[in-house]
Amino acid sequence: MSTIIKAVKISKRYKIDEKTFVQALDNIDIEINEGEFICIMGASGSGKSTLIQILSTIDKPSKGTVSVEERSKMEMQYDLSQFRYQNLGFVFQDLNLLDEYTVFENIALPVLIMQGKDKNIENRVKVLAKKIGIESLLEKYPNECSGGQQQRIAIARALINQPKILIADEPTGNLDSTTVKAIMKVFKSLNDEGTAILMVTHDCYLASYSDRMLYLKSGRIIDEIKKQSMSQEEYFDQIIALNSKHSI
Ligand code: ADP
Repeated sequence: MSTIIKAVKISKRYKIDEKTFVQALDNIDIEINEGEFICIMGASGSGKSTLIQILSTIDKPSKGTVSVEERSKMEMQYDLSQFRYQNLGFVFQDLNLLDEYTVFENIALPVLIMQGKDKNIENRVKVLAKKIGIESLLEKYPNECSGGQQQRIAIARALINQPKILIADEPTGNLDSTTVKAIMKVFKSLNDEGTAILMVTHDCYLASYSDRMLYLKSGRIIDEIKKQSMSQEEYFDQIIALNSKHSI
């Protein structure tokens, strides 16, 4: 299995003022391999968002290295934006859908911005929208869609370039449980088709869809569970137990 992103001994310190720093990440090693589904959990402030920003190459660590697709750091410096565009799809808490554009345009936009034109774009958007169950919304505007539909639109936009990894920070934030289940099914089927997923969540049920769960505390990975041969129920129970152990 080949590695897509590898972080070695990464730390992140935010400077508050001349004398004060926040140690958001502390000496973390992590590898994301092709096709994996990794979930990151931990209390608020434990460093989850900082970690995914750094793994996504959007932010830089204060110490340590992040390498992508086994390329050296030297090579990477030249085309990180290209790497992000070709390999990563993002769904963040703030969906950032553009209300003045239709759903179709919102999904197609990443391609049109980077490539100018793509004669297959209409077909690509339609195929993807069908897979995610939003094909009937393409001519609407985002503010005419429900929260769950908007979430799916953001997922479709993240997937339009067929990324190797979908990176999602609390992707089901304020959605009702039926919509959450539907979105997790979409994630699971994407993962079954080979897309790696890196997801931050507080929800143990969502985490039970992953293959591997990492638990962060004070900027360190303090625990990990691998699903391996466990059933989803057994894995779910272990995730709950681990969360309650660390939240005491
Ligand atoms: P989580 O996603 O687990 O809630 P974050 O990664 O957002 O945690 O934050 C980890 C720590 O870093 C927290 O103490 C937070 O206040 C701090 N932090 C995050 N971003 C910044 C920033 N831009 N400037 C200063 N401190 C920050």
